[in-house]
Amino acid sequence: MSKQTRRRLIFSMLYVLAGLAAIWLFQTFLFRPMVVRETQVPYSTFLTDLDEGRIESVSLTPGRIYYVHLEGEENGPETTFNVVRIADPDLTQRLIDTGVRFAGEEPSSNILPTMVGWLIPMLPLVVIWFLVMRRMGKGGGGLLSLGKSKAREISGEMTGVGFADVGGLDEVEVELKEIIAFLKEPERFTRLGAKLPRGVLLVGAPGTGKTLLARATAGEAEVPFFSISGSDFVEMFIGVGAARVRDLFEQAKAKAPCIVFIDEIDAIGQSRSTAGVIRTNDEREQTLNQLLSEMDGFETNLGIVIMGATNRPEVLDKALVRPGRFDRQIQVGLPSEKGRREILEIHSAGVSLGPDMDLSRVARITSGFAGSDLANIINEAALLAVRRDSDWVSMADIDQAIERVVAGLQRNLPLSDEVKRWLAYHEGGHALVGHLLPHSDPIHKVSIIPTSKGALGYTMQMPEEDRYLLTREELNERLAVFLAGRAAEVLVFGEMSTGAASDLEKASELARRMVTELGMTDALGPVRYVAQPSTTYLGSQAVLRSGVSPETATLVDQEVRRLIEEALRRGTELLHSRRAALDEIARLLQEREVLSGEEITRIAGEHP
Ligand code: ADP
Ligand code: MG
Ligand code: ZN
Repeated sequence: MSKQTRRRLIFSMLYVLAGLAAIWLFQTFLFRPMVVRETQVPYSTFLTDLDEGRIESVSLTPGRIYYVHLEGEENGPETTFNVVRIADPDLTQRLIDTGVRFAGEEPSSNILPTMVGWLIPMLPLVVIWFLVMRRMGKGGGGLLSLGKSKAREISGEMTGVGFADVGGLDEVEVELKEIIAFLKEPERFTRLGAKLPRGVLLVGAPGTGKTLLARATAGEAEVPFFSISGSDFVEMFIGVGAARVRDLFEQAKAKAPCIVFIDEIDAIGQSRSTAGVIRTNDEREQTLNQLLSEMDGFETNLGIVIMGATNRPEVLDKALVRPGRFDRQIQVGLPSEKGRREILEIHSAGVSLGPDMDLSRVARITSGFAGSDLANIINEAALLAVRRDSDWVSMADIDQAIERVVAGLQRNLPLSDEVKRWLAYHEGGHALVGHLLPHSDPIHKVSIIPTSKGALGYTMQMPEEDRYLLTREELNERLAVFLAGRAAEVLVFGEMSTGAASDLEKASELARRMVTELGMTDALGPVRYVAQPSTTYLGSQAVLRSGVSPETATLVDQEVRRLIEEALRRGTELLHSRRAALDEIARLLQEREVLSGEEITRIAGEHP
């Protein structure tokens, strides 16, 4: 049960108790006296009245006796006296004797006023309860709406956000253009029989603007935006999640073309094996299955595009990312310096900035910050300015805001110029060697923006085709690229850093496989030296087959080392011979943080 539902239940229970108490008080102290007690008289008074002939008529119920006086008597016939009836066997005889008109009555005549006395005060209480529930549930009809999709509440919202509101994600926007074109004119695509990806998965660190981007895509295409968050499903009763998914797609189909956005999809789409050990995941699994069947169930030409967002793509169930479902993944990275500048500009548009404000400088010193951090900085700075009673935000406000955000961040500290220079040469080394070696895959992108996974920079290579076979030379070149970061550091600074740790890990693993498993060294020959590999190959941790002599084991170590050292030498020589290109790449990397493959080509010439 969600926190909100629990809060509502508790409120309702207290409210009912308080309401009943209030009505009871009302009944006892106000209503009853008005109707009943004022005219209630003791039995003895009734008997006296009867004996003295003052009574006009009497009506008898099992519990009470009601009577009125004769005209001209005290109180007259307008007042009905009532008496609690006591056991009096002579009563009937007495009434006959005095000759008053008397009749028996059914007790029910007494219930109507009682009911009215309860119902009338209850009415306003119920109305108030409804209003409060509406408030607490943001428009949900209290507990009644549990099974209905949250998407219904914002049914097909027109977001009104566009790419102009998104900074630093130009490449991603280009990738989404096709989808926007499709949503705008589905006929143009379906006429040719073209199939568009059904699902697009936005992958990136928290706060990089995935949700914003999805909304902007809907805004650009001018189509309704249905959104639901995976975490909404987690806390639901069995069957509710699946029902919500069904609901969501039903509505989407009615409003097509449109975008269905499933935020934080890892909450439902976690692979069945990686989800917790505890068996509480039936609900999640049902929801996932419903989602999969819905994604399969509608025609692509309907004009529905499903977008998902996650910061943990690796945990997603394979079924979710296979063709026909989320078959296109788009990486949403941390912004570059230029991107950060754009984001800062977007978020400071409505803020009055002081004359000393230099957004370029802010962008420069906020390496590793996500878009949400930057938005946060501007906002914090504006708050600080308000507190100072100033008319504008000054650079000092920004600096203070950055400090606050950094203190609360811990994810990435801004890098000093010295560290940036070091990283630029390290990554530049990888990129240049990768670019120059003939069999190496072309460089796609080099970056010195720290990643959310802890790497300080990365070089992405883009294979031109799927590789099924790799030659020894190709593997040796790979080793050289792995070691080129270290090579550049030593060449330029005459010193090494910890930045090469994971490069060395990958290189050692590959070299060891070449020696013990692929038979690629002359010293050890085409012999397999590892034990039968388990289903997952453990790389450098793979155990040598039992019966391998200590001398051979030593030789394996030596050969692994030789391969790696050769690769290091090769990288160093290449970088030495192309030092000018390395310097230029490093310089540009420090300036822009990200370089594309084309820029590397421009600096170092065509990839052979
Ligand atoms: P995510 O979904 O990736 O965690 P969000 O889209 O929720 O990130 O981003 C949170 C907020 O941060 C956005 O509402 C926006 O104000 C700001 N933001 C993040 N990235 C950007 C960006 N690229 N351009 C402009 N604003 C951004
Ligand atoms: Mg989000
Ligand atoms: Zn490296």
